[in-house]
Amino acid sequence: MRKLFVLLPLVLLFQISCNEKVKEEVNETIAEVKEAVIVHEEYAKSEPTTPEETEFYEPKVPVVSPAVGGKAPSDAIVLFDGSSLDAWVHTEDSSAAKWHLNKDGSMTVADKTGNIRTKEDFGDIQLHIEWRSPLPVQLDNQNRANSGVFLNGIYEIQVLDNNDNDTYVNGQVGSIYKQGPPLAMASVPTGEWNVYDIIYHAPEFNDDGGKTKSATVTVLHNGVLIQDHTEIKGNTPYVGWPKNTVHGKGPLMLQDHGDDSRVSYRNIWVREL
Ligand code: MG
Repeated sequence: MRKLFVLLPLVLLFQISCNEKVKEEVNETIAEVKEAVIVHEEYAKSEPTTPEETEFYEPKVPVVSPAVGGKAPSDAIVLFDGSSLDAWVHTEDSSAAKWHLNKDGSMTVADKTGNIRTKEDFGDIQLHIEWRSPLPVQLDNQNRANSGVFLNGIYEIQVLDNNDNDTYVNGQVGSIYKQGPPLAMASVPTGEWNVYDIIYHAPEFNDDGGKTKSATVTVLHNGVLIQDHTEIKGNTPYVGWPKNTVHGKGPLMLQDHGDDSRVSYRNIWVREL
């Protein structure tokens, strides 16, 4: 009986300490869950009872003419409409762009003349650009109609004729070159016009040169989502890992892959975001 008197408080103490530990763990979990919950403060007020209470009229939304029939929206900066290459220079020496200006309103890579870039610099943009692989097809893998759209002049969204032409998936058409394969291969038949609609947000850097926010890119290829707000981890070199160097706004650049790829472009415009 005396033993029982000694043991009972010990058992109770043990139980209390176990309960405290469980309580602590439960409280921690509740705190984590609370932290993860998104609270929309604007909807924390008392519940509306009329439709008017949830309707607002200011600020007004700008009116923009739509991008239909090959026309750029009214607030877009037109970079190429088929009339001239005036918005473009060669990347290497800033000389006037020597790519071919065609009568059908397109331009074509003039082999081994080098990449071209816009004279104007951009940060966050919505970009519309159309491109076409040439017929007849020639060469294969990365050498078949290889070009590229370089965002900020640094980050390549691959342009390639991948129809019956396999290559590494992180270098195929619509990839962030050597980084991010596309979600789908949505090319039209070779010789027809492809459309890229791209939304690009530039990276951010701190004063010490550290990257505080990666660039992101969303790409629609012929209306099909192929990059979904994908993180761009750095530049897109042929050899080596992606690297980051501090930069601000930059040009849009188009690639001359140097192997007579003869890719054509048309109808290029951007909207600054
Ligand atoms: Mg390329």
